[in-house]
Amino acid sequence: MTIYADNAATTKMSPAAIKTMTYAMEEVYGNPSSLHTVGQKANEALQNARATCARLLNCDPKEIYFTSGGSEADNQAIRSAALMGAKKGKKHIISTAFEHHAVLHTLKKLDQEGFEVQLLDVGPLGTITAQQVADAIREDTCLVTIMYANNEIGSILPIAQIGAVCKEKGVLFHTDAVQAAGHLHIDVQAEHIDMLSLSAHKFHGPKGVGLLYARRGVILTSLIEGGAQERGKRAGTENVPGIMSMATAFEEACAHIDENTKKVSALRDKLIAGLSKIPHSALNGDPVNRLPGNVSFCFEGIEGESLLLLLDEKGICASSGSACTSGSLDPSHVLLAIGRAHEVAHGSLRLSLCEWNTEEEIDRILEAVPEVVARLRDMSPVWQELLSGRRQFIL
Ligand SMILES: *Cc1c(COP(=O)(O)O)cnc(C)c1O
Repeated sequence: MTIYADNAATTKMSPAAIKTMTYAMEEVYGNPSSLHTVGQKANEALQNARATCARLLNCDPKEIYFTSGGSEADNQAIRSAALMGAKKGKKHIISTAFEHHAVLHTLKKLDQEGFEVQLLDVGPLGTITAQQVADAIREDTCLVTIMYANNEIGSILPIAQIGAVCKEKGVLFHTDAVQAAGHLHIDVQAEHIDMLSLSAHKFHGPKGVGLLYARRGVILTSLIEGGAQERGKRAGTENVPGIMSMATAFEEACAHIDENTKKVSALRDKLIAGLSKIPHSALNGDPVNRLPGNVSFCFEGIEGESLLLLLDEKGICASSGSACTSGSLDPSHVLLAIGRAHEVAHGSLRLSLCEWNTEEEIDRILEAVPEVVARLRDMSPVWQELLSGRRQFIL
């Protein structure tokens, strides 16, 4: 039996989300912009999904813009804030060094276009303080964009405090909440969030659909020109089945947050305790303020990629960090941002759990990982150098 422990990369759809999606594909096939009955049925379903998502985030349905996923929402939020800022001569943007590439690569482009991007240091635990944000905000700051929780190392950031600082200073605040939505309680009013991105496939919904929440008053820039869908801010016939299914999955996930957190964090903690016994290993990220399903380790003297392949042979699906960077030889920018040395960052393993993982699966992982790490170390020339003292241990 395959053990799926890569839920931060994507999740399996829930039966309820699949049911909504197939129902929509069969019965709600109209174009929401069509004036006839079939079209209007689709439009109604679309507005219901919008109302559901708005209620779950505590905002107005008019503040929800459906997108193709988290990456698009991040791009649109940041581009929009930058354009609003530029019109007022404000071109300073604050973010962190360990954001998702959808944020970092958008910021890099803006930097090339003449914006000044300041990336805050996330320290060894992979978090930042609201004070760091307060200290960084300037007269010409147009945007603070900071993720709600990190996808690789699981640390949860003090979003409500950062939101309060931004509100006090009158600076727009965007958060990439893709890893948090459906897993942590989110309230955009209470947390003073102006813009938020989320993605359905990270909470048992379908791939290719997400949303951007943008507070009234934020002027969005279209990334896609065409029809007047999504209040003229995102052209293209709406992905009605995907959007309806996302609303089902989001509602289901939010209804079970407390129960899932209890269950999943117990599995996580058992896994962390067991893997910590492997010599010359280290947990990545904040041990306390941590996503319920995230386990991230570095093991000295091995390559994460080989570890993944051997675990896969044993039926365990894991990741070495972000799915997006897999296939590249550079170590994870997140692990480098928390100060891991290159050679240690290469030996990383992320196991991300969901409520469908079982205690038996955790036991099987705890049997497999130490065995595979030991086997790889036996074959590793670096490990021999470490043992002989020709190279110094870092962990
Ligand atoms: C998965 C992820 C994204 C990208 O979302 P897509 O819907 O796959 O485009 C963005 N940010 C974070 C933190 C993620 O985990």
